[in-house]
Amino acid sequence: MTRRTTTTVNVGGVHIGSQAPVVVQSMTKVPTTDVARCVRQINRLVEAGCGLVRVAVPRRADTQALAKIVARVNVPLIADIHFSADRAVEAIEAGAAKIRLNPGNVKSRDDLHRIIDSARAHRVAVRIGVNEASIRDLSRAAVPPAQRTALMLKEMRQYVRIFEKRRFDPLVLSAKSSDTPRTIEVNRAIAEAFAYPIHLGLTHAGLPDDARIPSAVALGTLLAEGIGDTIRVSAAGDPVVETKIAVEILMSLGLLARRQVELVVCPTCARSEIDIVSLARKVKKAVAGIDKPLRIAVMGCIVNGPGEAADADLAVCAGKGKGFLYRHGRRIATVPEDRIIAELLRELAGL
Ligand code: SF4
Repeated sequence: MTRRTTTTVNVGGVHIGSQAPVVVQSMTKVPTTDVARCVRQINRLVEAGCGLVRVAVPRRADTQALAKIVARVNVPLIADIHFSADRAVEAIEAGAAKIRLNPGNVKSRDDLHRIIDSARAHRVAVRIGVNEASIRDLSRAAVPPAQRTALMLKEMRQYVRIFEKRRFDPLVLSAKSSDTPRTIEVNRAIAEAFAYPIHLGLTHAGLPDDARIPSAVALGTLLAEGIGDTIRVSAAGDPVVETKIAVEILMSLGLLARRQVELVVCPTCARSEIDIVSLARKVKKAVAGIDKPLRIAVMGCIVNGPGEAADADLAVCAGKGKGFLYRHGRRIATVPEDRIIAELLRELAGL
């Protein structure tokens, strides 16, 4: 998969751009002033696969807390800014490695210049975030959806020009919508118009079960086209869940090395003579704690079983009351159904 060529932006030592791996990020969802909880959540996010974490800082007390959080975590933090130039400057001075800014809701051009100058002085990157729901001058009722992509692009051009005129270029761009086709369309347009790295996200995607597929379709389509240098899946609830979805999207495209066991399971059909679903569930449970990038196939019959086994580290191809075990595509044993899991785990321990 060829990535679109972009500039590289250094965010506290994490590089965003086509010369670096796609970075997963998420956002804390506990009060920033609750430093201990915030630090705990950030650490869980890092463990789940986040390379960057964003923190909202709506009040002065939040930017004060941010300074304490920065000192206690080992991941660059992004300050999420809306409306206030003071918060932006405070966050930069508190140690944020990047700020996320919607220039359209900063009060004045002078305020924007103050933020840009502070970011430059502290070597802090900026993400310009345009959001369909908050586009300046956009009366959603009056503007047909078909014209919104052009409007978002127009806004982005205006903002980028302000930063470039001020000779500031450690920029990451994002244009978000809660609509999957429009997210794809606007990011294609931005990729065409600029060489800056792109932050991808489908915003307000819903509860995790509802967010998973639209996010995978929007982000996966763009990533498969080489567009996108950092991603965030937004889902209501625990941010670790959205991080896991983002990681899965990257792994499924081969943009991130697998850290855990990948389970390949046939969908089952009338040819299957044993309960493949419960067998697969047992295998999944048994390998849950294994941090090795192994591929295990659980197949219901010999139609596709040997083919999948050839690409798997271990495979079981089930028959009536028994299973044929394969290691690296070679058949190594035939075991009774009630021994399949135990034998599979025994083989796994030897890999
Ligand atoms: S592997 Fe066999 S049982 Fe499973 S879906 Fe294919 S044909 Fe059906």
